[in-house]
Amino acid sequence: MAELPQSPLMGQMMSQPLLISHIIRHADRYFGANEIVSRRVEGDIHRYTWRDCHRRARQLANALKSLDVQMGERVATLAWNGYRHLEAYYAVSGSGAVLHTINPRLHPDQIAWIANHAEDQVLLFDMNFLPLVESFAPACATIKTYVMLCDREHMPPTGKLPNLLCYEDWIAAQSDAYEWPLFDENSASSLCYTSGTTGHPKGALYSHRSTVLHSYGAALPDGMNISVKDVILPVVPMFHVNAWGLPYSVPLVGAKLVLPGPALDGKSLYELMEQEEVNFSAGVPTVWLGLLNHVGENNLKFSTFKRTIIGGAACPPAMIDKFKKQYGIEVIHAWGMTEMSPLGTTCTLQPRHMKLPEAEQARVLAKQGHVIYGVDMKIVDDAGDELPWDGKTFGNLMVKGPWIVSGYFKGEGGDVLQDGWFPTGDVATIDADGYMQITDRSKDVIKSGGEWIGSIDLENIAMAHPAVQIAACIGVFHPKWDERPLLVVVKKPGVEVSKDELFAFYEGKIAKWWTPDDIVFADSVPVGATGKILKNKIREMYRDYTLPT
Ligand code: AMP
Repeated sequence: MAELPQSPLMGQMMSQPLLISHIIRHADRYFGANEIVSRRVEGDIHRYTWRDCHRRARQLANALKSLDVQMGERVATLAWNGYRHLEAYYAVSGSGAVLHTINPRLHPDQIAWIANHAEDQVLLFDMNFLPLVESFAPACATIKTYVMLCDREHMPPTGKLPNLLCYEDWIAAQSDAYEWPLFDENSASSLCYTSGTTGHPKGALYSHRSTVLHSYGAALPDGMNISVKDVILPVVPMFHVNAWGLPYSVPLVGAKLVLPGPALDGKSLYELMEQEEVNFSAGVPTVWLGLLNHVGENNLKFSTFKRTIIGGAACPPAMIDKFKKQYGIEVIHAWGMTEMSPLGTTCTLQPRHMKLPEAEQARVLAKQGHVIYGVDMKIVDDAGDELPWDGKTFGNLMVKGPWIVSGYFKGEGGDVLQDGWFPTGDVATIDADGYMQITDRSKDVIKSGGEWIGSIDLENIAMAHPAVQIAACIGVFHPKWDERPLLVVVKKPGVEVSKDELFAFYEGKIAKWWTPDDIVFADSVPVGATGKILKNKIREMYRDYTLPT
């Protein structure tokens, strides 16, 4: 950014850098006895406090120092949501190094590519990933030390990895006397690569300042609405966009944190939520499908679960409705992306909405919502001209703000900003109240005879049918209209529905020409490393599909 003019009269407030280490210090000093509960890869439940977490993070910071890890150098993790991973969040960034969280669901070649691109120096990994790490390690030129997140008892007797350390032994040998260093708040703190459906992934490099500001913003009442009174379980993984910032926002408010480890199936999540009295959670829609199925099939109830953030992909209104009507749980629909740390918008009602009939309120709540202060957004046409906020006109969604990337790591992709705005690649409407609704990813929009059809609308309608588990809508070639919608449906187990019934279900709900040209039933649809349905894979599968004429 260009140098800004200085006023002849500057304010007289302390200039204290916004640093991640201050968050954990704050949690220790003011909420030190509050718990962090983790389901471990070892299979058992581990519990300790924010004070313990801070102490062990300081030991880990000393351990990193013993390896001579320098400021700005990358330390990678390949781990589930657990307390040791959390310690790495604070020790690595707090000491001035950069935490590079790697998604273990990626292909080993892609992991190696990312680790080389990031020039990772150290890799900390959960013990169940040992075979995976051994498979890509020979291709990683820069990693000098591997650390397995376990105790001596769980270490392999022999292994293929050079310089393999045992985490518990390594940090036990270190003192917990460590002063978190002070440095420029714009220093890099962590690195996360985008899921990248085409080409190589690109790195979003967060700073201490962006992370702390995002943590404040996310915690606001009309953001995630979290406080010390909550018991919070992030299902969203700590290896993808920092679990939506919850590992920072939760200690910032001092709440109890529950980390589910690798057990993300409906049964395990339900049991952990009940046992630890979780009242707030966050995850992508596909995770909640598993939980709702388990609870429904076993006639269970939630005793404490009251609120959840759902985002990462459009949350079908039928899911919001089910959570509310059947279980009394409020869904906060949220939108964001890796490049946005990730939170951009959340959907909560304003007093004027409260007077609306329930169905109208539900229509608002199905939107991706209003920005959190700090983020600004607009929609533009292909020429870059701003489009009206009428809730109907859709255009390319652009954002700016202090926790949004200004470019990618190592300059990949060149200059990404357009007039200072980041193009999200999403297509959306914004209504007069500033509530945004995603119509599609720009590459998923179905272009029929020069007009656009939003696939999310078509999917949401199908998902409201009681027999539909998952619906994915893609554009396939049509000789007259270029593209027409094809709906791919996965039925709920043991429930039947015909094509004609589904076609009838669309009647009166959309303009007739938006109705899918055909519906196919599939056993499953491909889901990517971050739990999103892979439309590009589905398009490949049905590339030669001939629509009925
Ligand atoms: P990622 O960077 O992997 O988190 O993916 C970000 C993309 O996920 C966004 O650009 C959207 O296309 C999509 N996305 C995230 N949240 C939502 C949502 N609530 N509704 C629709 N799409 C979403």
